[in-house]
Amino acid sequence: MVKETGFYDLLGVRPNASSDEIKRAFRRQALKYHPDKNPSSGEKFKQISQAYDVLSDGSKRELYDRGGEAAMKGGDVGASGSCDSPVGTLFNLFFGSKMQTCSRPGGRGKTVSHQLSVSLEDLCNGTKRKLSLQKNVICPKCNGCGARQGAETKCTKCHGTGMEVHFLGHIPGVMHSIQTTCLECQGQGEYIRPRDLCHDCNGRKLIRQKKILMVHVDKGMKNGQKIIFHNEGDQSPGLEPGDIVIALDQKVHPVFQRKGHDLLMRMEIELVDALCGCRKSIQTLDGRTLLVTSQAGEVIKPGDTKYIPNEGMPVYRSPFHKGNLIVQFQVKFPESGFIPVENLTQLHNFLPSRTDPITSDVTEEVSLSDFDPNDHHKQPGRREVYEEDVEGQPIQCQTS
Ligand SMILES: [Zn+2]
Ligand SMILES: [Zn+2]
Repeated sequence: MVKETGFYDLLGVRPNASSDEIKRAFRRQALKYHPDKNPSSGEKFKQISQAYDVLSDGSKRELYDRGGEAAMKGGDVGASGSCDSPVGTLFNLFFGSKMQTCSRPGGRGKTVSHQLSVSLEDLCNGTKRKLSLQKNVICPKCNGCGARQGAETKCTKCHGTGMEVHFLGHIPGVMHSIQTTCLECQGQGEYIRPRDLCHDCNGRKLIRQKKILMVHVDKGMKNGQKIIFHNEGDQSPGLEPGDIVIALDQKVHPVFQRKGHDLLMRMEIELVDALCGCRKSIQTLDGRTLLVTSQAGEVIKPGDTKYIPNEGMPVYRSPFHKGNLIVQFQVKFPESGFIPVENLTQLHNFLPSRTDPITSDVTEEVSLSDFDPNDHHKQPGRREVYEEDVEGQPIQCQTS
């Protein structure tokens, strides 16, 4: 079942005609209505050319069968899509020029993309956000035709084809003509007189509209994850509307770092905590307080990593399953002099015993100084030492 038969009628074939039948019918009709023979039938000839252009291309014909002439104006003429399609070549053969129409790729309105800044708390607990944005919608006043009601929108020069055919002469059996884009309508096939323009959209066919979207950020969603609102993007006459794509952009969290479903944090504890057992609190992303305790006598070393099960991020679409909270410990040592020297023996008695080094007569005792890699005066091979050496004894030549 075809929607319209107009193009078939122009060529005088049935809608189920084969491509050979269509080609023969076109030749027959083109010769009959050629303006050289019938100067008054130029318009009819153009219509026949247009019908053949569509029916000789499998994908254009399919689109026409489904949606009629209106579908062809939408700009989507299917997959062939290229100016160098076989139809173009055939057209070229017949008319001595190249087809000017190029199908637009896609056939959908523009996709509108937005970034939504969220916190790690939002991704853990889920949240709803109202997002206000501007998009193009088909003008409701003129329904996207750009003209006031009842006004003529078809270009009178090219009769809506967007193309002008110029006939250059006639040699029996061969037609010579070139086809150019209609200058009046710039190939659009329609021209609206300024006084007929729609007052709301001023002929643009589209208006800007404010749109409020409710974005649902689900528990466990990830940084960069996209939330798609199908068909909520820009509208365009004859095209399917585009999508709105919201990409989540997670802000850096001061405490937690996310690794998949797990949360990672550093915890600084005092030396006394490390040696004697500790009690530390953690504020969770969902607002609870966890009290972390270590057993008396359990030693936590710098760099030790431990975890608390099920206190990580919820799993997306399965929020009752959670990852782990991984804690990396840092131990804060006391400053020098934190204990009077006379009390050191007492402390020493509590700490594990140490092994003294083996010394002999030739052992030299040296003291340690703080080392600053940026302080050049304390590094060997610098100027001061060199000058000292010069003033003292002559230094020996050294090969480097
Ligand atoms: Zn309008
Ligand atoms: Zn025109």
